[in-house]
Amino acid sequence: MIKRFLTLLFAIAIVSCAGEKKSEKETEKVEEKEQFITLYTHRHYDTDKEIFKKFEEKTGIEVKVVKASADELIQKMESEGDQSPADLLITVDAGRLVRAKAKGLLQSASSEIINKTIPAHLKDADNNWFGLTKRARIIVYDKNKVKPEDLSTYEALTEDKWKSKILIRSSGNIYNQSLLASIIANNGKEKATEWAEGMVNNFARSPKGNDRDQVKAILAGEGELAVINTYYLGKLINSEDENEVNAGNAVSVFFPNQEGRGAHINISGIGMAKNAPNKENAIKFIEYLVSKEVQEIFANANYEYPVNPEASPSKLLNSWGAFKEDQLPLTKLGELNKEAVIVFDEAKWK
Ligand code: FE
Repeated sequence: MIKRFLTLLFAIAIVSCAGEKKSEKETEKVEEKEQFITLYTHRHYDTDKEIFKKFEEKTGIEVKVVKASADELIQKMESEGDQSPADLLITVDAGRLVRAKAKGLLQSASSEIINKTIPAHLKDADNNWFGLTKRARIIVYDKNKVKPEDLSTYEALTEDKWKSKILIRSSGNIYNQSLLASIIANNGKEKATEWAEGMVNNFARSPKGNDRDQVKAILAGEGELAVINTYYLGKLINSEDENEVNAGNAVSVFFPNQEGRGAHINISGIGMAKNAPNKENAIKFIEYLVSKEVQEIFANANYEYPVNPEASPSKLLNSWGAFKEDQLPLTKLGELNKEAVIVFDEAKWK
């Protein structure tokens, strides 16, 4: 009887042990599944998706993507508060990252790899955000009508000789706001206001369309100069639309202010969310994005400049030559954004 009882007890013990083992395994599985990061992003390029997939394959960390405009994402993070699932925020300009930081939506992400890879002027001083790719806002000119010797600086675009020849998008656009912010930072508000008024004076038409549309307008003969971000020219030249290719080929690149402060640059960048539930994995993700290998894919795919100095730009960008860039800390662009909007209004830049 006792023997039987002991056998039964033993059997129960085995079963419960097995049960314990099984549940241990189950937890392991659950933990494995929970390796993920949530990325709020304003970027919308197919190549980004491929890069994220490679990261998933390499690390087993899933990248959950939420896409919207930077303003919408910032608002979302604000209303979600400490319940926000966001680990990271990617925007297409530094100004919005500065704004997110000012609203207390970001936190410091310390990593030796990130620190030594990204040059100081392309990241936040407190490591709240980092540049991922770099673009310059440049002048493109009609190859048949303009001689590059006639060009020099952003400031010189207000000269009388460019009357009715300049194409540029509206002042509501963040790229123009950041360019004007850089002019305020470098020349002061008064000079910047004169500049904006002088530009309006030389407009070929009332501002409309995006950067690519300005280049198409040059092809259509509506103006001779356009101010655009570098990668849009890459997109035009490599477009599947014949008219876009023709527009891209009708113009040449001019990097302004090379004798002075350098051409205005901006970044597409990434910030560490204040309440990031998966901070360690999020840091791994940033480290991955700034590695030489990924930088070359990341930047080249969208005709941008890498932020990692060891990575080389695409053939097309190399063909435009090296250029001097304005070293103004990008934080300034965000800080002066409001002032830039006011100056645009005063100058009646639509
Ligand atoms: Fe853009």
